Amino acid sequence: MFKIDFQGDKAIEWSRKNGELFREERVYRPTIYIAGENMLLKKIRAETASKTYASQFEEWRTSPGKRPEKVLRIDLERQEDFKSFRNYLRRKYPRPEIRFFHAGLSPQFKYCVEQSRNPEIEGELKSLRLNLSRPRIGQRTLKGLKINCEKYSSESRALERLDREFSGEGPDILRISRSQVLTLIDEKTDFSLGRGSSLEKLAGENTVTAYGKTVHSPSRYSVFGRAVIDESSSFMLSEAGMKGLYNLVSRTWKPLQEVAWASIGNILTAIEIRQAYSNNILTPWKNWQPETPKKASTMRKADRGGFIFNPRPEVYEDVHEMDFASLFPNIMVNKNISPETINCDCCDNSKVPELGYSICEKQTGFIPHTLGPIIHDRSNYKQKDTEYSEKASAALKWILVSCFGYMGHAHAAYGAIECHQAIQAFDRKIMVEAKEMLEEEGFEIKHGIIDSIWASGENVEEACQKVSEEIGIELEHEHHFDWIAFVPRKNSEISTLNRYFGKADGKMVTAGIGMEQSSTPEIVKKCQKEMIEAVYESREEALEILEEYISRVRNREIDLEDLIIEKKITRNPEDYKSTNRSAEAAKRMKRKGIDIRAGQKVRYIVRDQNSRPRVLLDFEEIDRYDNEYYVEKLKSAAESVLRPFGVKKVEKGLEKGLVNYI
Ligand SMILES: [Zn+2]
Repeated sequence: MFKIDFQGDKAIEWSRKNGELFREERVYRPTIYIAGENMLLKKIRAETASKTYASQFEEWRTSPGKRPEKVLRIDLERQEDFKSFRNYLRRKYPRPEIRFFHAGLSPQFKYCVEQSRNPEIEGELKSLRLNLSRPRIGQRTLKGLKINCEKYSSESRALERLDREFSGEGPDILRISRSQVLTLIDEKTDFSLGRGSSLEKLAGENTVTAYGKTVHSPSRYSVFGRAVIDESSSFMLSEAGMKGLYNLVSRTWKPLQEVAWASIGNILTAIEIRQAYSNNILTPWKNWQPETPKKASTMRKADRGGFIFNPRPEVYEDVHEMDFASLFPNIMVNKNISPETINCDCCDNSKVPELGYSICEKQTGFIPHTLGPIIHDRSNYKQKDTEYSEKASAALKWILVSCFGYMGHAHAAYGAIECHQAIQAFDRKIMVEAKEMLEEEGFEIKHGIIDSIWASGENVEEACQKVSEEIGIELEHEHHFDWIAFVPRKNSEISTLNRYFGKADGKMVTAGIGMEQSSTPEIVKKCQKEMIEAVYESREEALEILEEYISRVRNREIDLEDLIIEKKITRNPEDYKSTNRSAEAAKRMKRKGIDIRAGQKVRYIVRDQNSRPRVLLDFEEIDRYDNEYYVEKLKSAAESVLRPFGVKKVEKGLEKGLVNYI
């Protein structure tokens, strides 16, 4: 099943088996559950009777630790009434006297879980890819539309092709570069994009700030009989591809379209909700904060307060990197850490080191229950060598990387902080033990953070195996570095925790430096990469590379594309009071008729730091760019490369001639 649509009192399931399209209709009455004082529930039941299809009292648990209680179950006539009825209840009856359950689940997921309908995708689906650039959308033209990667330079040709693609059955999946592509096509064509019904707006666009980050979610559209996947708002698609999404569908029971736009927290919650429901536990309605997952390499591990063994910022030779595989998730599973198991009511065992918290021995927590199978399946996928297992493994990896931040799960109102503290305490204990064991094996420890250790010594594989067996979590030999350089903080002799580069197994390995950040212009990335490749053999050569790049920037011997800076804006263009470059770029885009909102990205070139316009957008005619701005960027990137090698200021190195300086 790849899509569920709702029409009147029916749910329509779409699936494709052995190439044949199936459409199955089933009667569906969406349900809302309400808990509260008995008299109040009776009153609600009587007062809402005219608006509901059916209602009755049922026994459910409203939290994992609680006994079953009587809750009011209300069935509605039609899915389309669900939201307004829920909001009506919320306005009319006071909280916290009553609590709602299964009220905020996404509609297709809710249907699958409550009706036991598995949305797994069985065979090949027909997919249509539609890409159109933002400037074209701004100009309201389909000129330049890419259809399955084929570009159309005339709008009428593009429309002819679309007409062909949508005639007959048409595609099962619409994979679009952003949601406005659909509305534009809908505007331009005289046929319906859906299978017998037209475009439906599910949610307006909005921007939310959470944890100091701004997240933009574009309008969402549903097309009858087809799954819509918006590439601009699907983190999982970009990380794990379609195969990864398919895996997550069968794991979460979130149908394809909903899994594509889900955040990682959302995906974990879905697994938990379904598991709970099958154990007769309802999930309370909360307003979930959206979140954007960070990449592992940019995550500031120090913020997590785990183990740190700080090296001096310098260069080490012949060093092995050993990593504990998915250490935090493994700690959660092995130690049974979950909000409802930490300091439970029934056990007193002071199991958590340093802190003395107790952990329940009588029940397995929800978090370990959810993560256990994911860890298990991922290590199986890692051992297989197919495209599917690779993509599935990538999807699960992101879940495991992010799960530490997700501890405030659907069934617990509190307890997340204690969980974080407990995990970190176990982490420190494990890392200290591992360090001591490795030292006993004759290793010299150079550096350690959270779940990684760098050390030199002999017989690594054996040592890793010993530690793995002793600790009960696998320590993997990740790299053998010929050399590795830890980059110091600016104006400091202390190393930044996870910024390093080096050569391992014949390849460059980097973490946390400029070339890994998407906002760094390509020219700076290229320069930094070349310098890293040269610096270990010869600092002079690295500096020559820098000089070469500087002179190319000054003499305009570069590709203008390489100067583009890409940044996420944190406000809507009209809300910027200050005029930093990103704000200026955003305002400029808006003036050109391109819709841009907080949380989206701007792409620009720095034209002139001191006179307006200071920036030009990536698709504009570039009359000039600011040499010295880019030269400064190059120098600062070069400094990260040279400082571990004892060069303090690149400026001086350039002026004095590096040979003298060193
Ligand atoms: Zn207990």
